[in-house]
Amino acid sequence: MERRVAVKEPVKRPVKMAGQVKGGSAARIRHWLRGVAGLKLTSRAPLAPLTTFRIGGAAELLAEVGTEAALAALLTAVAEVGCPFQILGLGSNILIPDRGLPGVVAKLSGHFRRLRFDGNRVVAGAALALPSVAKQAAQRGLSGLEALAGFPSTVGGAVWMNAGCYGVEIKDVLISAWLMERDGSHRRIGAGELEAGYRTTALQHGDSIVTRASFRLHPADPAACLARIEQLNRKRWASLPSGRTAGSTFKNPPGDFAGRLIEACGLKGKAKGGAAISPQHANVLINLGDARAEEVLDLMIEARHAVHQRFGITLEAELVLLGELGRRWRESVP
Ligand SMILES: Cc1cc2nc3c(=O)[nH]c(=O)nc-3n(C[C@H](O)[C@H](O)[C@H](O)COP(=O)(O)OP(=O)(O)OC[C@H]3O[C@@H](n4cnc5c(N)ncnc54)[C@H](O)[C@@H]3O)c2cc1C
Repeated sequence: MERRVAVKEPVKRPVKMAGQVKGGSAARIRHWLRGVAGLKLTSRAPLAPLTTFRIGGAAELLAEVGTEAALAALLTAVAEVGCPFQILGLGSNILIPDRGLPGVVAKLSGHFRRLRFDGNRVVAGAALALPSVAKQAAQRGLSGLEALAGFPSTVGGAVWMNAGCYGVEIKDVLISAWLMERDGSHRRIGAGELEAGYRTTALQHGDSIVTRASFRLHPADPAACLARIEQLNRKRWASLPSGRTAGSTFKNPPGDFAGRLIEACGLKGKAKGGAAISPQHANVLINLGDARAEEVLDLMIEARHAVHQRFGITLEAELVLLGELGRRWRESVP
């Protein structure tokens, strides 16, 4: 029997998910989705270059997805074979296992980079870089995103994380987010439904993919908005180690700073193989050149145990630990 992928927009060629295909789930997905417009599939694609840490192995299958129809087709095929699926933004807050990731890793592009201004509102595709959205809004005299312009992030990644800086979080400016579910269906949620807290959202407990988001901004002098971005970025980069990092490793515990606690345990600058706790900022891990994910995780576990032993505080990871790294992290609770 021939089955068709349920998509809201027509795909150029019907996707047949039938017939015998040799190989594993990635081979079947490649076979079913050949010819689908807006989809580029690469087997055994290295993932390290797609992250700011530059660490990790390859994706069994990397999918670059340019349209909603292609994303729906991909998700339906993934559900059909039942393989793991991981969406990636700019890779600025993730650690990928040295062995890589099984199944499909998807990166949004194309239509997901669309940007539309509508009065004081901006609708931004999930694959857009947040700093670029903030800058374009500032140039139009729209204020609200300036404090969020100083770190690498896609719009989708920032919504998923409720990213924030200098007292402003995504939830403060978000009107709504458009989501695609694993069955290819769409839904739109308001900012309240995001249930956003300090680096947490309801999206972290589900499988929804952010496809775009709208933000409420307010009119302001363009030059003043751009100057504010410049000023905050200078401040930001002066306080952060440069090089291959993924920003903050741990969430700050209530009323304290993870960096201060780790430093007090004497771990600032501690190295393991190619990874180190930054000598500049103890809550940032750095890849000295050839770090392995396991080495980064070892340092995280060591820091968490030391802080727990000395202060009785259990640090929570801000860094997203993928695959087996997440399992090891959960098992290592002090
Ligand atoms: C130098 C540096 C400074 C940083 N400073 C800050 C800071 O000040 N404040 C802050 O909050 N963060 C900061 N970070 C962390 C990081 O930039 C943010 O968490 C960012 O929002 C992650 O976005 P991303 O697109 O890179 O997501 P990724 O790192 O690629 O992914 C992170 C998570 O988001 C999910 N995700 C990505 N896109 C989507 C989507 N479209 N739909 C659903 N889920 C998705 C991924 O599956 C993953 O689980 C910093 C990082 C660096 C390297």
